[in-house]
Amino acid sequence: NDLFQSPDYFLLDDLFTEEHKLIRASVREYVKKSISPIIEECAQKAEFPQQIVKEMGELGCFGPTVPTEYGGGGLDYISYGLMMQELERGDSGVRSTASVQGSLVMFPIYEYGSEEQRKKYLPKLASGEWLGCFGLTEPDHGSDPSSMITNIKDKGEHVLLNGSKMWISNAPFAQVAVVWAKDENGDIRGVIVERGMEGFSTPTTHGKWSLRASATGELVFDNVKVPKENILPNVKGLKGPLSCLTKARYGIAWGALGAAMDCYDTALRYSKERTQFDKPIGAFQLQQKKLAEMITEITKAQLLNWRLGTLMNERRATPAQVSMAKRNSCEVAQQAARDARQMLGGMGITGEYSIMRHMMNIESVITYEGTHDIHLLITGMDVTGFNAFK
Ligand code: FAD
Repeated sequence: NDLFQSPDYFLLDDLFTEEHKLIRASVREYVKKSISPIIEECAQKAEFPQQIVKEMGELGCFGPTVPTEYGGGGLDYISYGLMMQELERGDSGVRSTASVQGSLVMFPIYEYGSEEQRKKYLPKLASGEWLGCFGLTEPDHGSDPSSMITNIKDKGEHVLLNGSKMWISNAPFAQVAVVWAKDENGDIRGVIVERGMEGFSTPTTHGKWSLRASATGELVFDNVKVPKENILPNVKGLKGPLSCLTKARYGIAWGALGAAMDCYDTALRYSKERTQFDKPIGAFQLQQKKLAEMITEITKAQLLNWRLGTLMNERRATPAQVSMAKRNSCEVAQQAARDARQMLGGMGITGEYSIMRHMMNIESVITYEGTHDIHLLITGMDVTGFNAFK
């Protein structure tokens, strides 16, 4: 059986339902069949494989926790986590596309949108007919989004949107953008911007060494007339974007671990096949240390994610817990990728294996959706009660 297996050192599969395992198997199968064979070339050429949008829609990877009446999966958070884990085992960029679509575009429209907005956008986003993007970060305001300058001005029937967003995943291919902008009172509002609106453009960001198979761009708004019915009516303030980020970060906690698992699996397999000094390199203590530490860290992170998933299902998880898990998985993945890459020697730097691609991808994953530092400060503030941000 060459379909990869999850490392399952602590028999975590016993904690999953049959449905969870079926969902994981279907996404795993998809990654094996449709992502792994093409993704290295896409990354090398810095091309976004557009066909995956429809494919992932059909598979149910977009908005798995959104109710079925709006085209979502109506599934629990463990299912969502397992989907993200399997997608990122393939590539962090592929998982990013799904995270943005489900947690950053569908979730705010579902949670804060009007019934008309839900009916208009959610089914098309769920099926992959439309691709969405999420605009929060600006050229001068990243970790501190409350200082954003993108703004809307009331003009009666419509608002006038001005400003720009940077580092926006999916932007060059998106039909729909959920954009966060300040109104005249200084309140942050969510606005649904559609491709084709006059004054709206999405220039592509070139030259990335990371997430090369994911399209990144800017969102530029030059006096864009946005009808008032495109404003999300049910949220004001930073809570809007932050609640979306909590959902997406939860998925990243599982996703980054998928990348770590792929690095571990690859290094383990290689260590049994590659012979030096008449022995498989896996028989040397130094290589065993790397593998033993990888599987230990992966196992700890799996348990953390599983517990977080059950708390999410019970609506008891806190954003600070999500921050801890996101930060932890990124660190585990970064270390696993670095160690696995060394274990493969020269082969480790080539596109013959996935490790170097994961390693470069994780550099984005550790930065977006709150940097590693910011998540540490969130934990620090949560346990001490002191805000060290400012
Ligand atoms: P800065 O905020 O300028 O941070 C620079 C450094 O300063 C970091 O190390 C940071 O940890 C540190 N720092 C900042 N504040 C503090 C502090 N108070 N104390 C200590 N250290 C601090 N954004 C979106 O809105 N939508 C997207 O779809 C999206 N996709 C992305 C895709 C990619 C590939 C990348 C790279 C980014 C993406 N982002 C997206 C943006 C991402 O969320 C930001 O890059 C991130 O939040 C950091 O902001 P910044 O780059 O401006 O860095």
